[in-house]
Amino acid sequence: MARYTGPVCKLCRREGMKLFLKGTKCTTNKCPLESRAFAPGQHGRTRRFKLSEYGVQLREKQKVKRIYGILESQFRRYFDMASRQKGVTGENLLRLLERRLDNVVYRLGFAPSRRAARQLVRHRHFMVNGQVVDIPSYLVKPGDRVQVRPQSRALEVIHASMRRVREGRLVPWLELDKAGMVGIFREIPARQDIPINVNEQLIVELYSK
Ligand code: SF4
Repeated sequence: MARYTGPVCKLCRREGMKLFLKGTKCTTNKCPLESRAFAPGQHGRTRRFKLSEYGVQLREKQKVKRIYGILESQFRRYFDMASRQKGVTGENLLRLLERRLDNVVYRLGFAPSRRAARQLVRHRHFMVNGQVVDIPSYLVKPGDRVQVRPQSRALEVIHASMRRVREGRLVPWLELDKAGMVGIFREIPARQDIPINVNEQLIVELYSK
C-alpha cells in the first residue's frame, strides 16, 4: 500500500497543530512548530484567509489521514466500511483506524511513532495471536494478543520506545505486559477514549456532499 514519503513536519505546520509524526522529537523544543508555527511555503507566514466550510471539512479529513499515515483511496475505503456499520459513522471511522496493527503497536509503546510502527510491522517484528503479521493495516480484534517476535526482542528501537511507557492499561482498551513484550487489545474503543483532537463529523459532512 502506498504511503506518504515527504517531509512530515511540514504536514503539522500545514495543519497548525502537532500531529506527533516524528516520535520523541515531537515532545522536545526541536519540533519545528515551536519555532515556525506558520504554514510552510513562500506565503505561509503572511497569508491569512478565512477557510470556507468546505475548507474546514477538508482540513479535518487531511488531519486524520496524516495522523494515521493513510492516503486518500485507503481512507475512503475505511469511510465506506464505517458508513456500512451500525452507529455513528465518524466514530466508527476512528475506531477502525485505531484497530490498525501499526496504530496498536504504536499505542502499546513498541514504536515511537506510527510511521516507525509501520516499518517494524513490515519488517516482521510482530505477531498477532502467535502468528507473524507484516501487514500494517491488519485490523486487530478484541481479545487479540500483539507480541514482539522472539527473534526481535533485543531490538534497541523497541526497548528505547518501551522505556517511555508504563505497565498495564495504557488506554482503556489496551493492556501492556512490559516484561512479556505483549499487549492485549481488550475491546473496540469508545470515542471518548480515543485521544485525538479532531471533529470526525466534519469528515462525514465532506464525504456526504
Ligand atoms: Fe509534527 Fe513532531 Fe515534526 Fe513537531 S516534530 S512538527 S509534532 S512531526
